[in-house]
Amino acid sequence: MIRRGVRPRHRVLVVTDADNTLWDTDRVYARAQVGLLTRVAGALGIKPSSKDSLRLVREADQAIAASHPQHLRYPPALLVEALAGFMGPRPRRLDSGEVKAIVARFIRDLQATPRLRKGATAGLRWLSGHDCTVIVATEGDRRRCARLLRHHGLARFVDSCVSGTKSPAFFRTLRRLHECRALPCVAVGDQIDRDVEFAARAGYTTVHLPGRFRPRWVRGRPLRADYVIESFDEIAAVVRRL
Ligand SMILES: [Mg+2]
Repeated sequence: MIRRGVRPRHRVLVVTDADNTLWDTDRVYARAQVGLLTRVAGALGIKPSSKDSLRLVREADQAIAASHPQHLRYPPALLVEALAGFMGPRPRRLDSGEVKAIVARFIRDLQATPRLRKGATAGLRWLSGHDCTVIVATEGDRRRCARLLRHHGLARFVDSCVSGTKSPAFFRTLRRLHECRALPCVAVGDQIDRDVEFAARAGYTTVHLPGRFRPRWVRGRPLRADYVIESFDEIAAVVRRL
């Protein structure tokens, strides 16, 4: 509880997404996906066209994600099998050992350290120095996220790092946990559906930082963010206006 007359130390809660918001995960995925396609083609004895590799693998990836209950976190073996079925001269299919090896290499490639996006360090440093509680919220692995925060020297600007499936309830819970000392609440992220729409429904001021990764299921969807920024450090101007 905060005693009457005592100003809370933190006056704003800022929940920021990590992948493609603080760092460029898309580039890591692009390399890993092209590598996966090249290995599928190699196993089938086909020479892939390097020009269309990324487009082809992304179309398959998003077609699977759009219909799979785990969405973008579907098992990668499905992508290998889909590409093999699409590219291969039928009835040739990859055997389970080949699929397993390609998936293992793909998972290893995804562990590459992504580069920071522009303004990430300056923006988090500013928030940390201006009465903000900063939570990094990821739908990925929390330990990986915490490791990347440390690797990039950002951990000292962040109050906590949490993982979970994003939803209005997810954002409401974060808000409730910090209710005494952190109102209003701001959410920033690259995904219109996961970061902006869910947070808006939970009563947050929303900030969209567009990234290169735009899933096809949100294309053409109206953007209802309160603010759109081009660099993470522009979050300072948003918080100043609250
Ligand atoms: Mg993201």
